[in-house]
Amino acid sequence: MFVAVGDLVDELLVIAPDLMPRSSGRTLKTLARRTALPLLACPRCAAPMEPVFVGGIDADRCYHDDHVWFDASEHAVVLDRAREQYAARNPTLFARLWNALLG
Ligand SMILES: [Zn+2]
Repeated sequence: MFVAVGDLVDELLVIAPDLMPRSSGRTLKTLARRTALPLLACPRCAAPMEPVFVGGIDADRCYHDDHVWFDASEHAVVLDRAREQYAARNPTLFARLWNALLG
């Protein structure tokens, strides 16, 4: 499925507002690249897509369309990972109290 990069960033910021600085705008930096694999052609425009690593998922980004291409369930996985990571960075009040009691 295609997800517009700006839409993906919006979704991630709703889940994890601290994920990226506001100043970075509605864009995604390439965090890591797969190597030595042939570039996939964009299913929409046929331009070679850049392999990108988003939330632990290998995805492909078409700069021509400014979309990220996810396989079936990968988009949901990326959002789940963002949710988990945000929860880990921002423990609930209950968890903080619990840790304070134990600590
Ligand atoms: Zn394309």
